[in-house]
Amino acid sequence: MPTKKLYGGIEAGGTKFVCVVAGGPDHIVDEIRFPTTTPAATLGRAIQFFQPFIAQEQIAAIGVGAFGPLDLNPESPTYGFITATPKPGWSNTDVLGTLRRALQVNIAFDMDVNTAALGEHLWGASKGYDPSLYLTIGTGIGGGYIVNGKPLIGLLNLEMGHIRIPHSRELDPFPGNCPFHGDCFEGLASGPAIEKRLGLTGTAIPEDDPFWNIEADYIALALMNYILTLSPRKIILGGGVMQREFLFPKIRRRVRELLHGYVASKTILENIGTYILPPGLGNQSGSLGAIALAALAMQVDERKDDPRI
Ligand code: ZN
Repeated sequence: MPTKKLYGGIEAGGTKFVCVVAGGPDHIVDEIRFPTTTPAATLGRAIQFFQPFIAQEQIAAIGVGAFGPLDLNPESPTYGFITATPKPGWSNTDVLGTLRRALQVNIAFDMDVNTAALGEHLWGASKGYDPSLYLTIGTGIGGGYIVNGKPLIGLLNLEMGHIRIPHSRELDPFPGNCPFHGDCFEGLASGPAIEKRLGLTGTAIPEDDPFWNIEADYIALALMNYILTLSPRKIILGGGVMQREFLFPKIRRRVRELLHGYVASKTILENIGTYILPPGLGNQSGSLGAIALAALAMQVDERKDDPRI
């Protein structure tokens, strides 16, 4: 039996972990999902899942896409840590070090939105489109931007959820719930912002509620900014809020209205229905993205200076 043809992937989310062993999206060998509890119990369970595969030398590398904030600076003493998170018990958790010490295997580490963006770019709805943007709108809002085949990291991680968008207090008196900025994009349009504003979760709000036009408007305003500054060739919208599929046509229509013919691209003027899309990998963007990260880390040796490897 050929050894080390497989990769491990961990989608380390704030509410659940998904661990997978796979060669790619069409070759998933094993998968486990479990709720995120304490760091020791949760990482322990992930380690236990991978141990037999490592013992049999089946896994070449593991990719981890984790919820943040993360320290992704390899020069830093807390590289690979989840840093000051509001999630109880997880502040200053050495995710990367704990996994490396227990599993003794190559591990590539990045933000969850970056790995999801990578998964979609390699195997999903943005396959072959570079640059491309993956945005998650759920418990929080974040974006991963793929340029030249890898997630962009600059001075720090991208924080696309915290941009400012116009907020009419007459139309929407909700002050926003971002602890840092109040009514930034995430403060207005994330799942918890919807729930706090209306007292109902997004899944419980009927499709014909006028609030959804406001929500679609916020998302379209943010997308307009990304389109004008980053010019992605494809935009993928994932996350819990975007499970409400009727939002897609509303968002596409508003994006086109807001741009008002200024971006003279056929893609936007005529084909916006295939420009702004749900994830092609469904709810597996994160875990398969982590597999993609591991595969990429092993394939591209010259990227040894890449901070994520
Ligand atoms: Zn904010």
